[in-house]
Amino acid sequence: MRYVKLGNTGLTVSEFGFGCIPIIRLVKDDSVKVLRYALARGITFFDTANAYRDSEEKIGKAFDGMRDRVVLASKTLKRDGDGAVQQLDNSLRMMKTDYLDLYQLHQVAQEEDWLKVTGPGGALEAVMKAKAAGKVRHVGVTSHSLPMALRMVKSGLFETVQFPFNLIEEAAKDELLGVAWEMGLGFISMKPFGGGVIDNAEISFKYLRQYPEAIPIPGFESCEQVDQILSIYEQPNLMSEQDLSMMEKYRSELGRVFCRRCEYCQPCPQGVIITPAMGYPIFVRRMSAPVAVEFARKAMESVPSCTGCGDCVKRCPYELKIPEIIKANYALYEADLKEKRQ
Ligand code: SF4
Ligand code: SF4
Repeated sequence: MRYVKLGNTGLTVSEFGFGCIPIIRLVKDDSVKVLRYALARGITFFDTANAYRDSEEKIGKAFDGMRDRVVLASKTLKRDGDGAVQQLDNSLRMMKTDYLDLYQLHQVAQEEDWLKVTGPGGALEAVMKAKAAGKVRHVGVTSHSLPMALRMVKSGLFETVQFPFNLIEEAAKDELLGVAWEMGLGFISMKPFGGGVIDNAEISFKYLRQYPEAIPIPGFESCEQVDQILSIYEQPNLMSEQDLSMMEKYRSELGRVFCRRCEYCQPCPQGVIITPAMGYPIFVRRMSAPVAVEFARKAMESVPSCTGCGDCVKRCPYELKIPEIIKANYALYEADLKEKRQ
C-alpha cells in the first residue's frame, strides 16, 4: 500500500480508502471484522455519512481505541447550521471520537443547496465554527453536478472535493481533477464501480490507477474484497488492448441507461423526485432491497405522479428515457416492498 497526501490538508491517506455504504448490509460483528481487516491490510481512510444508517456506529465500534491509526470522514445533508452541527455531534458520538479528520457538505448540487449552505445561518458557517472548536480538522464538499463542483472548488472555501469518477463517468478527469489539483484540494473519487454497474474490479481499478492524485473509496463487505483490490494495486498497472476495448464496451453498453445523478433533469412539474428514483436498482445492489425500500421510499412514492410529459428528458444531457426507467424501477420497488411486508 502506498500513502499519499490528501491535497493540502496535511492528511496522509492510503492510496485508496474504504467507502462505508456496503457495511450497512452487514451485521455489526461482520462490519467490525471487515473494517479492522482493511486497517490491518493498510487502508487508513474511511469515508461515511450521517445518511448511511448505522455505518458510523459500526466504525466507532471497530476503531474504538485506535483513533490515531485512522483518518475518518463523514458528511451531512443538512443545509442549515443547527441541523449540520446536530448531525456532526451525532457522528462524533457514534464514531466514538471527539474530532473528525474531514467533514463534508453532502451532495451540494442545486443552486438552492448552494445558497442555503453558504448563506447566513447555513451549514458552512456552522461547520467552520466547529472546525475552529476542534471538532473537525478539515472541511470538504461532495457533489454529482460538475458545474456546481467546479464552482465549489474554485470558491476556495473547501479543502477536499468528492465527485463520481470511474471509467464510465469521466467528466472529473477532463474538467475537475486538474482544477482541484491546482487549487490544492484533495480529490476523493466516489463510486469507482459506477455505483455497482461496473462488475469487473480489475478493469475499474486499472482505469482509476492512471490518476493517482484521485483517491477512490470502494465499498467492501468482505475481507476477500479487500484482498482483491489490494492484489490489483500490488501489480504494475499495465493496460492491454483487451482492457481498453472492455472499457469501451462498458461505456457503450451503459451509456444509454446509466444515470449520472447530475440532477439537470429536475425539478419535475409533478414533484417527482427523479434522481433517486432513477438510481433505485443501484441502491438495492449497494444496500440490499429491504434497506433500499426505506432509503428511497419518498422518491419512489413520487413516481406514480409522472405524467410522461417529457420535460425532464429534454434537460437530460444523456437523453435517458426517464419516464420509462423510473416506471420500471417503481415496479421493482413495489415488488421489494411487497416482499418486505410478507
Ligand atoms: S416525464 Fe414525468 S418525471 Fe419527467 S418531468 Fe414529466 S412528469 Fe416529471
Ligand atoms: S436522469 Fe439524466 S439529467 Fe437526471 S440525474 Fe440522471 S443523468 Fe442527470
